[in-house]
Amino acid sequence: MLEYLTMRLGNGARIAVLGGGPAGSFFALYLLQYAAADRMDLEVDLFEWRSFSDRGPKGCNRCAGILSASLLRNLGELDINVPEEVIRAHIASYHLHSPFGVIDIPNPDPGAEILSVFRGGGPLSNAQGSLPSFDGFLLDCALRRGARLVHERVLRVDVERRPRVFLEDGPRGYDLLVLANGLNSGAIQIAGLPYRPPATLAMSQDELHCRKEDIAQYFGSSVRAFLLPHTGLIFASVVPKGEFLNVSLLARGGPPDLDGFLEHDLVKEALPFPYKRSCGCRPRICVGRAANYYGDGFVAIGDAAVSRLYKDGIGSALLSARQAALTAMRYGTSRHDFASHYAPFCRALHNDNRMGRIIFAVHNRTKDSRRFFRVQARLINAEGSLPFTGQVFRKVLWGMFTGSYTYRQILGMASNPKVVARVAREYLTRHGARVVEAKL
Ligand SMILES: Cc1cc2nc3c(=O)[nH]c(=O)nc-3n(C[C@H](O)[C@H](O)[C@H](O)COP(=O)(O)OP(=O)(O)OC[C@H]3O[C@@H](n4cnc5c(N)ncnc54)[C@H](O)[C@@H]3O)c2cc1C
Repeated sequence: MLEYLTMRLGNGARIAVLGGGPAGSFFALYLLQYAAADRMDLEVDLFEWRSFSDRGPKGCNRCAGILSASLLRNLGELDINVPEEVIRAHIASYHLHSPFGVIDIPNPDPGAEILSVFRGGGPLSNAQGSLPSFDGFLLDCALRRGARLVHERVLRVDVERRPRVFLEDGPRGYDLLVLANGLNSGAIQIAGLPYRPPATLAMSQDELHCRKEDIAQYFGSSVRAFLLPHTGLIFASVVPKGEFLNVSLLARGGPPDLDGFLEHDLVKEALPFPYKRSCGCRPRICVGRAANYYGDGFVAIGDAAVSRLYKDGIGSALLSARQAALTAMRYGTSRHDFASHYAPFCRALHNDNRMGRIIFAVHNRTKDSRRFFRVQARLINAEGSLPFTGQVFRKVLWGMFTGSYTYRQILGMASNPKVVARVAREYLTRHGARVVEAKL
């Protein structure tokens, strides 16, 4: 019979969380919440080297800053509401721009809003000074609820026996070590476990400073996504954030050319007003799953483990942090505990991402087709008067662009026989082909 090491967090247990981005703060928040429910005292050290009030890439975890509806719903479990001063825009719709036309996708569920935020203190060149940061706000929530900030950069840890974090003044011992360092700050050397971070792709980003009136007139509360046919772009979005527009580009084969994108006729048409480029970075986005991401007294979460493909990385950081904290509190912190209660969650997310890959592969082919674009536009417009439950096409595209639904849910909606029949009928009807009436 196999014997497993029993490792439980007792009163006064010491936990090191390496990284105070969303995953690290969410882990601390959930762990402290579960501990309080069990009347247990824990010591949680959150190691974070950035100051989120710094402007530019130095103080920022580099992202477009969209908070999905599912993330905002889950924040309720932690009694957290994103304060208005952190919110840069309430997003009501997405506009898909293609040379074949524009599709407007209003939020199919207006009760489930999405928001845009800055992750750090805002763009590098910003006359207003530092702006309130979402990551800074979350970290403050974790500190107010009992975590302790260690404002240092961790270079080396050892998980061979009792987990240890090596700092300038020597090693510190812990009962559990949580790796939440993301993918954009350089590696931490980990002795005792062959951890390997997930595969990544390089993105290009900038923040455009504009006049408020121009953003109000041309963008309002809508995100613009650009479908540029016959390019390697996987997605290209422009997100309103107060006086700024965030441009995020993802392509296969190296960081996309942001200058070329802004010079594209379709983009110039959508941004016909003056702006000043105010920041700029080439961050890496998670597109795979880490290897050996848990062990005795060790677990990786957020981007350091696995994240939702191309979308909602902050939302999936919450989910992995929650599952890891639940495992540590309810079951234990051994390799076996994480294998039984945490790894299945990561596997399910990884499998969902596989479906995401299929969806994006199909989308990439169809973005080149004028016919298909127009079919989508007609089907979406026709849903305008339907109740929320009937707006399948809106939900599919909204889910794809915002991350508000899992890829399994999106594939489920898109492959429903009635939906496929409607697409086929629309496609054939408008092009003079003989239509065989499907019996729906
Ligand atoms: C261009 C781009 C756009 C994106 N847009 C979105 C979006 O709109 N919405 C969305 O939900 N997701 C988006 N994502 C994904 C999202 O940014 C990540 O999934 C999310 O930030 C992961 O959170 P995390 O806490 O795991 O990692 P991170 O946010 O990277 O946080 C890791 C933290 O660990 C700290 N750290 C690292 N190493 C050390 C060390 N050695 N010592 C101490 N501290 C350390 C870092 O300073 C950082 O604060 C985007 C990603 C990219 C690249």
